[in-house]
Amino acid sequence: MSRLVLVLGDQLSENLSALKNANKDSDIVVMAEVADEATYVQHHPKKIALIFAAMRKFAARLRDDGWDVRYTELDDTDNCGSIPGELLRRADETGAKEVIATQCGEWRLINALEDMPLKLTVHPDTRFVASLDEFNDWAEGRKSLRMEYFYRELRRKTGLLMEDGEPAGGKWNFDHDNRKPAPDAVDFNGPMEFTPDDTVEEVLDLVEARFGNSFGTLRPFWYATDQGQARRALSHFIKHALPKFGDFQDAMLDDNRFLYHSVISAYINIGLLDPLEVCQAAEQAWEDGDAPINAVEGFIRQIIGWREYVRGIYFREGPDYTRRNALNHQRKLPEFFWTADTKMRCVAKAVEQTRDEAYAHHIQRLMVTGNFALLAGINPHEVHEWYLRVYIDAFEWVEAPNVVGMSQFADDGIIASKPYVSSGSYIDKMSDHCKACDYKVKDKTGENACPFNLLYWHFMDRHRDKFGGNPRMGQMYATWDRMKDDRKETVLREADQFLEKLSKGERV
Ligand SMILES: Cc1cc2nc3c(=O)[nH]c(=O)nc-3n(C[C@H](O)[C@H](O)[C@H](O)COP(=O)(O)OP(=O)(O)OC[C@H]3O[C@@H](n4cnc5c(N)ncnc54)[C@H](O)[C@@H]3O)c2cc1C
Ligand code: SF4
Repeated sequence: MSRLVLVLGDQLSENLSALKNANKDSDIVVMAEVADEATYVQHHPKKIALIFAAMRKFAARLRDDGWDVRYTELDDTDNCGSIPGELLRRADETGAKEVIATQCGEWRLINALEDMPLKLTVHPDTRFVASLDEFNDWAEGRKSLRMEYFYRELRRKTGLLMEDGEPAGGKWNFDHDNRKPAPDAVDFNGPMEFTPDDTVEEVLDLVEARFGNSFGTLRPFWYATDQGQARRALSHFIKHALPKFGDFQDAMLDDNRFLYHSVISAYINIGLLDPLEVCQAAEQAWEDGDAPINAVEGFIRQIIGWREYVRGIYFREGPDYTRRNALNHQRKLPEFFWTADTKMRCVAKAVEQTRDEAYAHHIQRLMVTGNFALLAGINPHEVHEWYLRVYIDAFEWVEAPNVVGMSQFADDGIIASKPYVSSGSYIDKMSDHCKACDYKVKDKTGENACPFNLLYWHFMDRHRDKFGGNPRMGQMYATWDRMKDDRKETVLREADQFLEKLSKGERV
């Protein structure tokens, strides 16, 4: 008897475990564009378009390859609107009684599938370098789960940048050579762009009609939507941007949205690129003498280090993770996260490009929008929902640990050993935003003082009980303690005034 093989929109890989465990001659692939998935948060229209277009192309490829694929388009009249609903409908249609799936990346969907009245066999998602069992074995019994040590395990496992069992170049981590301030000029024109073909155009019309009112600009749409295009985009990055990736990884520029970043996270997350393939291509560039070790090591660490590590944390911590709020932050998300209407130029720039491209690079997410939300005490669940909605690469297994853990410290330090907070001087050092800002980054108090400067000390002061004993924050508390009392009072009063304006919805 036929079985149904579920392929989800972020599982568009030929080597998907569900497909590997199915029989092409007798089993039936089920793929469906469903309202439940497209609307459980109001995703950026570019994200919906990417996923639907890539799904349609992947389905066509599976058919060419001999699979029987039952594909439901969003507008099909008999579309049940949910993944379990579509599986039940296809089971009725075909007489199948069993579903083969690959583990999903969100607790929400994992639970929905388990509740379905069909026999379900779930295979591990093998499109990662480490299995969840490997992560849990590594984590078991450790007092703290620092990414760096897990990363070293995976370097050993994959052999990436290893020479005779030792790290290439004599060090595991070359960050010391990375993270230079913003360059005056960038000699990379950004990610490879693709003109929409007929399939993509059809999807764009559909998305415009159904999701045109969501936050985010749909057109121009330039993302890759199949494996071939994604591989070209990767090669383009490796050749033209990887050599300077490390140097300017943390830099931000008013007029350049991508700098030397790869912009491939969405392609890896939906299965168009394999993480190991990506790392091997970067390693090859180093072996060929085309990219320096600091760039290649830094890039590989993001993928086999951070990406694998946050996935392990998401599944280890369980479904309540997105509700954690260790610092008890309760302020509402300000409206300017949607409108970009703020005098803070760094925030306005990050939100504008998020709206237009569904993309911002790591430091914009961590040290601009994330930093502001943490300093201002925004409710971390609202922050989590914002990130899940606005980015093209946002899937809960990777988004939630980055937001709830790394950026908002809401998991009480499982991921970050100290909160990622900074005053305006860090943003000034790494970007050119401050030059054209209404606020003055050098002003620590007064009418024009940069809000990051005021809020930084407000954060440190209000969370002294929690962080006062943290050795990594001792120096900052010592600086605060050396400040004259009347100056401290002024800083805290002005920060309170700023937060009051924020809560009232006044333009800040
Ligand atoms: C608050 C916050 C939210 C984030 N939300 C997401 C998200 O929803 N989805 C997502 O894929 N990444 C997320 N990240 C991680 C990172 O910012 C993006 O992966 C990266 O910006 C994507 O751009 P890029 O492809 O140009 O990456 P590059 O800078 O070129 O890095 C190369 C690759 O490394 C991987 N990577 C880098 N950093 C991380 C990280 N911290 N966690 C996981 N993978 C990483 C990505 O696959 C990325 O494509 C978030 C980070 C922060 C601080
Ligand atoms: S002055 Fe402050 S608010 Fe303005 S761009 Fe610089 S860091 Fe951002």
